[in-house]
Amino acid sequence: MPNDATAPITQDVMTIPRKLPETGKLNLVGLTRDAMRAALIEAGTPEKQIKMRLNQVWQWVYHWGVRDFAAMTNLSKDYRALLAETFTIDLPEIVSKQVSADGTRKYLVRIAGGHEVEVVYIPESDRGTLCISSQVGCTLTCSFCHTGTQKLVRNLTAGEIVGQIMLARDDLNEWPKPGEPKDETRLLSNIVLMGMGEPLYNFDNVRDAMKIAMDGEGIALSRRRITLSTSGVVPEIAKTAEEIGCLLAVSFHATTDEVRNKLVPINKRWNIETLIAALKEYPRLSNSERITFEYVMLKDVNDTDADARRLVNLIKGIPAKINLIPFNEWPGAPYERSDWSRIEAFADIVHKAGYASPIRTPRGEDIMAACGQLKSATERARKSRAQIEAEASQG
Ligand code: SAH
Ligand code: SF4
Repeated sequence: MPNDATAPITQDVMTIPRKLPETGKLNLVGLTRDAMRAALIEAGTPEKQIKMRLNQVWQWVYHWGVRDFAAMTNLSKDYRALLAETFTIDLPEIVSKQVSADGTRKYLVRIAGGHEVEVVYIPESDRGTLCISSQVGCTLTCSFCHTGTQKLVRNLTAGEIVGQIMLARDDLNEWPKPGEPKDETRLLSNIVLMGMGEPLYNFDNVRDAMKIAMDGEGIALSRRRITLSTSGVVPEIAKTAEEIGCLLAVSFHATTDEVRNKLVPINKRWNIETLIAALKEYPRLSNSERITFEYVMLKDVNDTDADARRLVNLIKGIPAKINLIPFNEWPGAPYERSDWSRIEAFADIVHKAGYASPIRTPRGEDIMAACGQLKSATERARKSRAQIEAEASQG
């Protein structure tokens, strides 16, 4: 895929489950209900049993988090053997885990092909949020984002996306235990698609993974506890509401096209006006399901009082919350974080205009786990500065 915001949208259309080359077996993790039904039938499950078998296997994999077919005690021995011959239950592998002084956990996760992505768990008093990745690297080149300096290596599969949730539940020891009362206060209660990559450039896999995460007989996270962040892939925005139904966050970051073109180059393809029009149309938009506008605070770039006033004018009529993100530095970053007093003055103007304007407390900075700091350390395919500048100047 070209590293270019003006390139046509290409998506990974791999929906037919692939067998693992090493074992010749199909991984059940990442299969939607329909795909799992088809796979179980192909493996020899009699059609008249399929409804029951699908429910049973589905629950073992996605509700109980079981990895061993032998533990699926409500299935006959023969059927368990058949499953074990045909399928695996595989997650991406945690290569390393770092825990920040503030409790944030960062997992470095290895996926097929030896690539790595980062997954971050952020505990708070009333929730625990898992920030997951949708791609290795990113095709886009937002100039303040560390991930943007890494070329797109590939899209993650649905299994690798939902697998990030499952491995975090492993690490938090949070799978339900048979016979124990249901625990409604979950350590992992929310998902944000705010890790590496642009989720709307990997739409089908992100959708399938989120459908699995939302399924009431599996991981059972409410659609209102999932937030997808996009840099502004306008044609996919309405589809997000229709086919996933989760909450939306938009990486807004600037109030004029001139500045946004530099910060978020996809703006050259879909500018602020086009983006705002798409957001106004976002189905089911309401005060309880507001759009989050993410706005990174960059010193002397986008942080004036005039910017704050332009911002509230632009979003007039959209139920919204403005999440101000103090810029997180990374080695070689061409920007600085706005002064704290500047961020507060900006927040105040937005707040007085009637919008919630929380300032996102940087979490896990000591382990480079904060927004925009994620990048697989081992990926060698770096974009050069010249390449980034060339891409940013293309219109
Ligand atoms: N690609 C998607 C989602 C991942 S980025 C998107 O761009 O929306 C998650 C959020 O972190 C985005 O709002 C992104 O703009 C922001 N971000 C990126 N780099 C950052 C940095 N260095 N400091 C603070 N926020 C950053
Ligand atoms: Fe990609 Fe999002 Fe980073 Fe932009 S901010 S380069 S879209 S990950």
